[in-house]
Amino acid sequence: MHTKLLIGGDFVAGQGDIEDILNPATGDVVVKVAEASLDQVQAAVAAAQKAFPVWGKTTPRDRATLLLRLADAIEARATEFARLESLNCGKPYLAALNDEIPAVADVFRFFAGACRTQHGQLAGEYLPGFTSMVRRDPLGVVASIAPWNYPLMMAAWKIAPAIAAGNTVVIKPSEQTPLTTLKLGELIAEIFPAGVVNIVTGRGDTVGSPLISQPAVRMISITGDVSTGQKILESASKSLKRTHLELGGKAPVIVFDDADLEAVVEGIRTFGFYNAGQDCTAACRIYAGPKIYEKLVADLSSAVSSIKMGEQHLEGVEMGPLISERQRSRVASFVERAASQNHIEVTTGGKLGNSRGFFFEPTVIAGARQEDEIVRREVFGPVVSVTRFDQVDDAVNWANDSEYGLASSVWTRDVNKAMKVAAELQYGCTWINTHFMLVSEMPHGGMKRSGYGKDMSVYALEDYTCVRHVMAKFE
Ligand code: NAD
Repeated sequence: MHTKLLIGGDFVAGQGDIEDILNPATGDVVVKVAEASLDQVQAAVAAAQKAFPVWGKTTPRDRATLLLRLADAIEARATEFARLESLNCGKPYLAALNDEIPAVADVFRFFAGACRTQHGQLAGEYLPGFTSMVRRDPLGVVASIAPWNYPLMMAAWKIAPAIAAGNTVVIKPSEQTPLTTLKLGELIAEIFPAGVVNIVTGRGDTVGSPLISQPAVRMISITGDVSTGQKILESASKSLKRTHLELGGKAPVIVFDDADLEAVVEGIRTFGFYNAGQDCTAACRIYAGPKIYEKLVADLSSAVSSIKMGEQHLEGVEMGPLISERQRSRVASFVERAASQNHIEVTTGGKLGNSRGFFFEPTVIAGARQEDEIVRREVFGPVVSVTRFDQVDDAVNWANDSEYGLASSVWTRDVNKAMKVAAELQYGCTWINTHFMLVSEMPHGGMKRSGYGKDMSVYALEDYTCVRHVMAKFE
């Protein structure tokens, strides 16, 4: 198993503290990974800085060629990546193989194409005798910090647009899930010039924090918790670094009385519990109309109780464990506090799994009210709350009454209603009669405390570049 850092094209063992990497389905230690020392963090930034002048001037065609080669190499090793990701995160192996790895390869392919079509505005004369043009140029060294829920996918979302735009990168995966990013380093080292992408592992305070505060880092990209985003902004404010924040979410799902109930139930069963609900867009906060509420709660509870929970490789397994004991006890305490309220009913689940590992049963909580903690705070686990509404305005106002603004969905057969409500929702994304569907061509990112960076799409390329004005005087 590959456990070495990638610095300036070389694989080096970390010289910092040792981190146990666990299999969340059993709690067993899979491997030990040494985190980067401060010297190694500095060396990684120096390597990225050294690589930038040449890489930043490489033509889009040449950058695209290497990105496409990386996408092919990932696909060629799809089973190895899926096995490792599923081992380290506890995800069902087939979900990693069939859903995540193809999406990861596609992100590199998309940015390979997108960087070749990127251009500034056409030149023009806005003062007589002067021609202006707008360039989009890379920024330099980008420090990228990734979370544990989709480690390889988050690495792809961060590395691909940054290097496609001509930047160089130092990426730090989550200390809990470094394995697929480290493995990606093997492919990167074969394909890209030394220093274009560097990988350091370790915890936020010992490695992430010194990484983002290096003077040569020009931009910080983080996907993580709101509180981590705040710490990063504080640090970035000292040197006014550009930031790209993708933070938490608490996605509202508005279900009108005229919705296709079967589709709603199937949708929430899938999109509320995928990755054990450890997803910032998870369909977790349901608002159901007065006529559909009772049947929705009954059908959803029955559907959710049929989700097969288990170890990664078990036949038909749909949901794995949570990432850690800490995360599981956090989720359990949310459910416990919700269940202690008289108006709330836990209609299915609500308990720890009874095998080894960090399992928590897929859970539906009915009767939740807007002011309840379970409706307001991000649980990041397999827990969905259902709240009844009577008026359309209440549903929209409650949906918007959140500190988060990442993802939302509306379910109705009435196109007018769907479009009207979609326009009123204050979320980076609103799906209609579906949830959770992502494509490389479309932006993913939030509003409010969910942050403001856009991943994927040409908007990510914009985020990772700087608009520059060049003006020429002519006689
Ligand atoms: P986290 O904030 O604990 O950690 C994220 C990363 O930040 C890790 O690599 C961690 O080591 C690093 N980090 C922590 N403190 C740091 C510091 N002071 N300086 C630099 N780096 C630091 O988040 P997590 O628990 O790994 O992930 C779960 C969170 O991520 C959830 O809140 C979830 O909503 C969010 N998330 C958001 C998106 C999105 O697209 N908006 C996607 C996935 C996850």
